[in-house]
Amino acid sequence: MALAGAAFSAFVLDVSPVSVAGHVETLPTPKPQSVAHLTFTEGEFDGKTVVKSEEEWKRLLTGDEFHILREEGTERPYTGSLLNNKKVGTYHCAACGLALFKSSTKYDSQTGWPSFYQPFSKKNVTEKSDKTLGEERIEVECARCGGHLGHVFDDGPQPTGLRYCMNSVSLKFKAAK
Ligand SMILES: [Zn+2]
Repeated sequence: MALAGAAFSAFVLDVSPVSVAGHVETLPTPKPQSVAHLTFTEGEFDGKTVVKSEEEWKRLLTGDEFHILREEGTERPYTGSLLNNKKVGTYHCAACGLALFKSSTKYDSQTGWPSFYQPFSKKNVTEKSDKTLGEERIEVECARCGGHLGHVFDDGPQPTGLRYCMNSVSLKFKAAK
């Protein structure tokens, strides 16, 4: 019995380092998730831009996010997760977390994309001419990271008359406390 016990102990001692190593190896590998690297920033843009290589963005963003934010893609209308969101809070850039729109300026534009009549602050978005579809449109980017958000049109409601037509994929909603 003593021999058998010793053999069993030796077996356990031999095996335990292997099982520890095995345990380490089977820990779940973190999947690239957009929220993992995101810090929500409230308030007006402070002028400090976020610059990352396209490779870095590819690692940090999901496929859809990369396509829309970095390659100026557009989600199909009526597919975005934030289209019908009516909660009170702030919409942030899905790439860098900068505050972009307040829920109080969101309205139903009947276009199939989340729409706002005014940005969080004019400083938080960059507007530039986009002629890719033949007619000139005004593209809207995040002022901090340059991520593509959507376009702005002049058929919005008062008080601004503007329609910021955004991709849900480019935005992350943070509910007010
Ligand atoms: Zn951004």
